[in-house]
Amino acid sequence: MSTGSLAAPSKQTLEELNPFHAMAQRFEIAADHLGLEPGLREVLRTPDREMTVAIPIVMDNKELRVFIGYRVQHNFSRGPCKGGIRYAPDVNLDEVRALAAWMTWKCSVVDIPFGGGKGGVICDPRELSQGELERLTRRYTTGIMDILGPDRDVPAPDVNTNEQTMAWIMDTYSMHVRRTTTAIVTGKPLSIGGSRGRTEATGRGVGIVCREALKKIGLRPENARVVVQGSGNVGGIAAMLMHREGYRIVSMSDMYGAIHRPEGLDVPAVLAHLRQHKRLDGFAGVERLSNSEQLEIDCEILIPAATENQITSKNAERIRAKLIVEGANGPTTVAADAILEQRGAVVVPDILANAGGVTVSYFEWVQDRAGFFWTEEVVNARLEQVMVSSFEEVDQMARRFGVSLRIGAYILAVGRVAKVYQLRGVYA
Ligand code: NAD
Repeated sequence: MSTGSLAAPSKQTLEELNPFHAMAQRFEIAADHLGLEPGLREVLRTPDREMTVAIPIVMDNKELRVFIGYRVQHNFSRGPCKGGIRYAPDVNLDEVRALAAWMTWKCSVVDIPFGGGKGGVICDPRELSQGELERLTRRYTTGIMDILGPDRDVPAPDVNTNEQTMAWIMDTYSMHVRRTTTAIVTGKPLSIGGSRGRTEATGRGVGIVCREALKKIGLRPENARVVVQGSGNVGGIAAMLMHREGYRIVSMSDMYGAIHRPEGLDVPAVLAHLRQHKRLDGFAGVERLSNSEQLEIDCEILIPAATENQITSKNAERIRAKLIVEGANGPTTVAADAILEQRGAVVVPDILANAGGVTVSYFEWVQDRAGFFWTEEVVNARLEQVMVSSFEEVDQMARRFGVSLRIGAYILAVGRVAKVYQLRGVYA
């Protein structure tokens, strides 16, 4: 019997693509530099709490279906857990664990008083009606409610969830605790306690660290050609803001493919096309490329802002960008890191580069609890200050230990969380 022409992925490939293993390997390198003892490493590696819930939903056709949801709280030693909720057919516990751990390190890198959490529901939101999505969200919220709370765990949007999802979670939680509790989630609509500047925060933060990194490598924005993978909240907004600052955005992409124009794209026109047609296809006057071809374009800056495992041992050799700024979580594998480093490419790691979102989520939580809301100028100025000083601290750590910015960021983050255990001790 023929085994077919599709080869099963090798063990090495599966290992390379497992985000939890990727996180753990970088954690170990940082822990070695910090000289952490084995017991503390085990504490910091192990998620504090994991919850799996069954979510029964009556579908529009009256059929009863059960979905599976997760919430992982990786570490709450520095404060309540913070992290998004994603809806996708391929969500799995290892991925949610990795994302939760990344949130712990990310909150620590930018020094905001949160630990890391993440949630996910296995579903394909494109196949669900608005009513089904609402019932799924409310039942999932009820399922994990015992571990949520403004002082316990504060969710936010992630892939395939949005402001509306957060509004449903806020309402469901509020109905159960018998009072309106806006600080239970961030990324809410402005009219129910959202923060000005939150929608743009991650893309804005990507732009800020990109500018700081360019200064270090001696390049000016107007001389930098930029390739952006993903045109959603992170990629689309980063491209828009960087276009305004004079960068030449030569390529953008979505899940269906990429567009390329070496003279530079008219980014506002691209985004208007995307809003109208829901895909980049059909945008005039550009060359079409596949998603994998796009990553290999000749450029100075590459911003992967779509999804995990985009730069791997298979394509890292062919990536020509001098500077890679990770808008997405986990776009580069550990094996690819080594190849890029050998080539002299500078990578601004995800736990720093996309931390603008969680920083303004923190601002939203502070504003909700104070009941006093800031202007957009104040939000943006405070974000700028956090991103610039965090970049500087990561850069200094990398120089001090003679490591990449990624490992420098992990050393900074892991060191801060380890210090909390030394100060608080281990209870009982
Ligand atoms: P989004 O859903 O708004 O946009 C994702 C974009 O990527 C879309 O344009 C989609 O078409 C495209 N895409 C998906 N798969 C692709 C592929 N294989 N090749 C090219 N394009 C592809 O999501 P988002 O909020 O922009 O998040 C993107 C990444 O950034 C995720 O890794 C997310 O975890 C991370 N992130 C988001 C935030 C935030 O505030 N939104 C904060 C931190 C990190």
